Amino acid sequence: MEFCPQCQSNKIIKSGVINDRQRYKCKQCSYNFTVNKLGKQIDQYYVTKALQLYLEGLSYREIERILGVSHVTVMKWVRKYQIKQAFQNEYHPTYKICNSDELADFFKDQQNLKGAGVIVTELGNKFMLIKWERFKE
Ligand SMILES: [Zn+2]
Repeated sequence: MEFCPQCQSNKIIKSGVINDRQRYKCKQCSYNFTVNKLGKQIDQYYVTKALQLYLEGLSYREIERILGVSHVTVMKWVRKYQIKQAFQNEYHPTYKICNSDELADFFKDQQNLKGAGVIVTELGNKFMLIKWERFKE
């Protein structure tokens, strides 16, 4: 559902497509505006997630497995946006996909956080938890 950026009304009507973007007109205040088409928004979401994971040290193949985006596509995005990993990790991060309850359980157990770094990122209707262990015993 789209809303008018000017008056927040949802009484809007489509009024053509300009440069691949859907154009709307607000019936309330007559304001014209455009939004990205839905397909493009979803693409952008996966581009951002893929680049995030790449920066966190995951391999192309792992990103493919997690996001369902081919590793060739991910490589293209990395090149296109000129993303460089800041450094090569000596140790490899582990990751798991969980729902919010499993996330809560993970954080409740202090042992899980000892000597480790954790990043949580939204992934569809679940969460991905990426963990680095700094000190191995
Ligand atoms: Zn309006």
